[in-house]
Amino acid sequence: MKLSIHGCRGSTATSSSFTKKYGGNTSCFEIKTDNHQFIFDAGSGFQNIEFSKNQVTYLLLSHFHHDHIQGLPFNSQLFDIKNEVIVSSDLFDIETVKTTVQEYFSPPYFPIDIVSSLPNVKFLSFKDIQKQLEAYLSLESIALNHPGGSTGYKLTQKESSFVYLCDNEFAEDQRRSLAAFSKNADLLIWDGMFTEKELAEKKGWGHSSIKQAIDFNAEANCKKILISHHAPHRSDKELDQIADSLPELFTLASDKLEIEV
Ligand SMILES: [Zn+2]
Ligand SMILES: [Zn+2]
Repeated sequence: MKLSIHGCRGSTATSSSFTKKYGGNTSCFEIKTDNHQFIFDAGSGFQNIEFSKNQVTYLLLSHFHHDHIQGLPFNSQLFDIKNEVIVSSDLFDIETVKTTVQEYFSPPYFPIDIVSSLPNVKFLSFKDIQKQLEAYLSLESIALNHPGGSTGYKLTQKESSFVYLCDNEFAEDQRRSLAAFSKNADLLIWDGMFTEKELAEKKGWGHSSIKQAIDFNAEANCKKILISHHAPHRSDKELDQIADSLPELFTLASDKLEIEV
C-alpha cells in the first residue's frame, strides 16, 4: 500500500506564506493498493487527487464537517463519468450519508445538485463495501469522540495495515478499544490539532494533542504515527519546532508526503 497526503490542515483551508511547507489543504488522504484506490475524506486537498484509471475509487468519509467534504466537487475528474467513485461512511446509514452530501452540494449552498448530476458518483453502505472488498483486504471502522460523531477506519492488506483516526478528542474510556483497533498498525494517522496548553482550554472541541498520541502509542505500538489536522494558525516555523521535539516513529503530516505502508 502507498499513502499520499493531499491535505492535513484542520478546520479551514489556509493559504499563506507561513503554511507553504506543511500545506494548507484540509483533510484528504489517499491509499493505493494493488487493486483499488481509497480516499479518506474529501477536504480541499481532494482537488489534487489523480483518479486511478480502470480502478474503482472508494471515498470513505469520517464525518460531514465542512473541512472533510468541501473539496468533493472541485476535482474536475469527478465530472468524467468514466471515473466511478463509491462514497461511503460508517457514521450514518447510507441514505443519510447520501442526503447529507446532496444537501451540502445543492443550491443555495452550491450551484448544482452534484449527486443527481453525476451518475458515476455512487453511494454504498459501509457493510456492502466491506463485503465487496473482502477477497482483497479487510476494512474496519470504529466510532470516535467528536461533536456530532466521527468514524475511524482501518485498512489491512496482507501484512500491512493503515489506521485513520480523524477527527477525535481522545478520552480515557477510548484507550482500550482504540489501542486494540490500532494495535501494531504500520501507519496511524492521529488528530493532533492541539498543544497540551490548547487542549486544556478547548475541552469538547473534538480534537486531541500530540502528547496524547505519544502516550497512546505506548499501548497501541504502531510502527509509524503521522500527526495531522494541524491548527489553521500553526505556522511552518512552529510545526518545525514541534517536529524537532518528536520521538522516533512520529512525523508531522505534510501535503504531498508519500509513504509506503
Ligand atoms: Zn476536521
Ligand atoms: Zn470535525
